[in-house]
Amino acid sequence: MNYEEDKPISYCGIFGIYGNPTSSVQAYYGLHALQHRGQEASGIVTRSFNGDNKAHFNIIKGEGLVSEVFADHNLLTDVLIGNAAIGHNRYSTTGSTKSRKNIQPFMVNYRMGNLAIGHNGNLTNAKELREGLVNEGAIFQTTSDTEVILHLIARSKLDNQIDQIMEALRKIEGAYCVVILTDDKLIAARDPLGFRPLSIGKLYNSFLVASETCAFDIQPSEFIREVEPGELIVIDDESVRNNDIKSFRINGDPQPKKHCVFEYIYFSRPDSFIFGHNVDKMRRRLGKELAKAHPVTDPDGDRVYVISVPDSSNTTALGYTRELEKQGIDARHEIGLIRSHYIGRTFIQPGQSNRENGVRIKFNIVKGVLEGRTIVVVDDSIVRGTTSKQLVHLLREANPKSIHLRISSPPIMYPCFYGMDFPSKEELIASRLNGNIEEIKKYLEVDSLEYLTIDETLEAVSEAGKENFCTACFSGNYPTNVDIHFKKEMYEV
Ligand code: SF4
Repeated sequence: MNYEEDKPISYCGIFGIYGNPTSSVQAYYGLHALQHRGQEASGIVTRSFNGDNKAHFNIIKGEGLVSEVFADHNLLTDVLIGNAAIGHNRYSTTGSTKSRKNIQPFMVNYRMGNLAIGHNGNLTNAKELREGLVNEGAIFQTTSDTEVILHLIARSKLDNQIDQIMEALRKIEGAYCVVILTDDKLIAARDPLGFRPLSIGKLYNSFLVASETCAFDIQPSEFIREVEPGELIVIDDESVRNNDIKSFRINGDPQPKKHCVFEYIYFSRPDSFIFGHNVDKMRRRLGKELAKAHPVTDPDGDRVYVISVPDSSNTTALGYTRELEKQGIDARHEIGLIRSHYIGRTFIQPGQSNRENGVRIKFNIVKGVLEGRTIVVVDDSIVRGTTSKQLVHLLREANPKSIHLRISSPPIMYPCFYGMDFPSKEELIASRLNGNIEEIKKYLEVDSLEYLTIDETLEAVSEAGKENFCTACFSGNYPTNVDIHFKKEMYEV
């Protein structure tokens, strides 16, 4: 297991563009910027008119990173032609196989023409809907719940395509952000509670949608606004001509929001703007809150050295150090762990039998920074605890005076049903040890261990509204009904 595999894993990243002659190239760059949201497979669908005034859909998808799937750049210019595109980065979801068939975008041709879809999230009533569709004669090609949305759209009796899509979205529950490409429009929608982020950008006259705003910055494009929770937007030729996006409400009036707080804690890139705020700012605040609640001082009055577990905790560690300084504690932010960025996904671990060594492939210690010193290690979360323990062993080799672990989230006690992949309850260390932080501390062999509480976490992100967040993986209070069969199938809870 590598370090990333012992972190919560995001299911997917999505991208869409309409009105740009190099749409596939823009989608490629967009997906590249969203690579952190899914690294197992990638795909792009474009729409072109090949001189016959008829829309043609072109698709390339495959397993691997964006740079691997589209390693032959001629694919972008010769195959993926057209001025509209959607793209998808995928991590294989729990309950779905790693079959190539599950790689998105999915594409169909039905009575209204071509339709391609990319989905980020997880539907909590997909099993029930799927059973109903199968009983009515639907034949499924994949095990992905995204295909359920496709069937619901294709089987709609309504005549207007937007109405068909809205009708389908009203039937699904859980977390979803979707991008849909049809013969004449790009459609994007976000679930009524807004679990996952989705933003709109503009590049010259063309419009873009993406899971995170960092996908707009390579060109660079202009950030317009976020897709509202429960909103469906339509971008077509008229939108490009008149600079006008059409907007519809999926389920009537807005509902109380339930953004995934883990997007701020870990998933989203710090250079993104989501849920109305910069991720960087929120992550620093999480670090500050952590230092307010759980500062570390040196027993001999010496300086305290704060290090992050790179890269995801870098910003949090800066906030933590700043707050210690504010409290008058002699503290310095240092680089005590070096991360190798050049490891391919298929890197062979030295001695597969010795999993304890796995973390060494990814990280090395800077002995001069750590030796004889009081060290605070700031990390964003602990999932299984396996790699955190390995990391602590590695740090001990530098003979620090003491190691204090500070976690900028509460203990993860419950599974996520809204698009993040956690292991089973038995594998989650906090759940296995009944949330007993002293026991987790003993297991990790650190001198002290502290987490943020749920209240402290919400205080840190309170600028975005404390009540606007889902914290179910910490509290077990799920903001939607979760089908018991779905729970059992996914996590055997
Ligand atoms: S359960 Fe946790 S990871 Fe899942 S949406 Fe809620 S806060 Fe995010």
